Amino acid sequence: MDLSKLSEILQAEPKFRFKQVYQAVYVDMIDDWQQASVLPLSLRERLNAECPLKIEAELEKDINDKRSEKALIYFEDKVAVETVLIRQRNHRYTVCVSSQAGCPLGCKFCATGEAGFTRNLTAAEIVEQFFFWARRLRQNQAIEKIDNLVFMGMGEPFLNYDEFIKAAKIIHDPEKFNFGSRRMSVSTAGITEGIKKLSSEKLQINLAISLHAPVDSLREQLMPIGKKYPIAKVLKAVDEYIAKTGRRVMFEYIMMRNTNDDDDDAITLAALMRKPLYLVNLIPYNTTGRFQASSPARIDAFQEKLESLGVAVTQRRSQGQKISGACGQLAGKKK
Ligand code: SAH
Ligand code: SF4
Repeated sequence: MDLSKLSEILQAEPKFRFKQVYQAVYVDMIDDWQQASVLPLSLRERLNAECPLKIEAELEKDINDKRSEKALIYFEDKVAVETVLIRQRNHRYTVCVSSQAGCPLGCKFCATGEAGFTRNLTAAEIVEQFFFWARRLRQNQAIEKIDNLVFMGMGEPFLNYDEFIKAAKIIHDPEKFNFGSRRMSVSTAGITEGIKKLSSEKLQINLAISLHAPVDSLREQLMPIGKKYPIAKVLKAVDEYIAKTGRRVMFEYIMMRNTNDDDDDAITLAALMRKPLYLVNLIPYNTTGRFQASSPARIDAFQEKLESLGVAVTQRRSQGQKISGACGQLAGKKK
């Protein structure tokens, strides 16, 4: 798929063509210009040649897992990324998109980090992942549509800030997907420059921070980028973000057995997290080999401890393990 020449081609056309084309691409979700029967045949042919709509993708499904699907999307240079569709209980759909092919940050608990970094994605490549699921839902169940979009797939969005925000703006654009920014969330390993930039955007995208440890020594072991962005620095950036936006911030905390999950960890964590508009989200560890997951009972106990100390806490119900499409399991490789 490549729409980069679209505006140029439409320049030579009457104004109303824009509307017809946008309707066909973003509302009717065509994947071949021939389907846009309102357009003249010659234009359809030219668009098919110069602005192909086809998405090169491989869908991965597991018959035992009706709640999530994963797709590998191939770009022009054969680089591929993974994107995931998750269906919640209440028939709401969340799409998770990648912002980079691989990730340079090498977190020890994350399959993407272990696999290394290939390149940044362009905004168009990020949007293409959203397109893929929007079309799929539109074809299968015309009434169902995407409710939430999370920039939590492969890669660190704030190391590719300009393309990430450009993609969010395209998806938000009333003339395109018209998707509300409050239904979007971005997660960062704590790149403070990005937190600052996001606070100045008009788009009100929800912010999540990958914390995963209550002290720097442990955090640096798990997330090497913690050396450059220690906890205090990240929290300072978050506090400035909150002061400016008045918006809630979620802190993600993967529960790893005998690593970061005992009561002392909860007590240390509570001292950092007991603030208005801070919300801790406990995440079950999806196995990637290196660590062990905390038991559900331990996660409950950890939550209770935090709550007793005045911290707002939720638990994430994890999905997609069967397709290796759960958080941290995206490697961008064919099985
Ligand atoms: N790079 C960004 C966004 C992508 S990761 C970031 O790290 O925040 C999205 C979320 O999945 C992060 O909170 C990340 O820490 C989490 N994650 C990574 N590996 C995981 C694993 N093995 N199990 C559960 N969550 C994981
Ligand atoms: Fe990159 Fe996020 Fe994975 Fe860390 S957790 S390696 S920052 S994708």
